[in-house]
Amino acid sequence: MNIKENLIEIKNTFQNSDCLLVAVSKTKPISLLQEAYDAGIRDFGENKVQELVEKQEQLPADIRWHMIGHLQRNKVKYIASFVHLIHGVDSFKLLKEINKQAKKVDRTISCLIQMHIAEEDSKFGFDQQELDEMLQSIEIQELSNVKIIGLMGMATFTDDESQVRKEFRGLKHLFDKLKSQKLPDNFELKEISMGMSGDYLIAQEEGSTMVRIGSAIFGSR
Ligand SMILES: *Cc1c(COP(=O)(O)O)cnc(C)c1O
Repeated sequence: MNIKENLIEIKNTFQNSDCLLVAVSKTKPISLLQEAYDAGIRDFGENKVQELVEKQEQLPADIRWHMIGHLQRNKVKYIASFVHLIHGVDSFKLLKEINKQAKKVDRTISCLIQMHIAEEDSKFGFDQQELDEMLQSIEIQELSNVKIIGLMGMATFTDDESQVRKEFRGLKHLFDKLKSQKLPDNFELKEISMGMSGDYLIAQEEGSTMVRIGSAIFGSR
């Protein structure tokens, strides 16, 4: 497993060189993250709070830490002081808690709204109705310590490329639609986080601005 070579290979396949590569390092030891860091990676994604905190303490301070998985509300406080971007905001309640914890540490935390785009019901995220309700609420206007900078989605785990493409296209479509609307002041939509090791090329073709890639860099888990 040569991490540097993997990174070069992945970057060579990118359909869009402006797309940000978030290296998903969950379950991997510090030494491998350091290798990726030495190869130039500064954006790392983790999906467990405790692991994220432990790694953040041991690795260079200029790393941008992305929380990519389902985040429990009672754990937001552990990452509020340093997290760069929370990809998996899957409920209004969670967004409110992030705002509360961000305020305590005098930060504004960037967030992505996770939309439920997959066919599987196991995947977290807002549906259209929940999103509309949040956007129309008064409370959303009051969350001055969060900034919603985009959307995130995970496609169905399937070999059916057309299915995956359709789901990513739907997310991009929603993104464009939202951008054309009048949104609360804490919205500044610019990012679409979609695509993982198995589907990042399709995601980029459909307009992804951030891909979250783990196993193609660090090997299988
Ligand atoms: C694990 C994970 C990834 C990366 O998956 P790979 O298939 O290893 O690239 C991306 N996004 C989320 C939310 C994940 O949990």
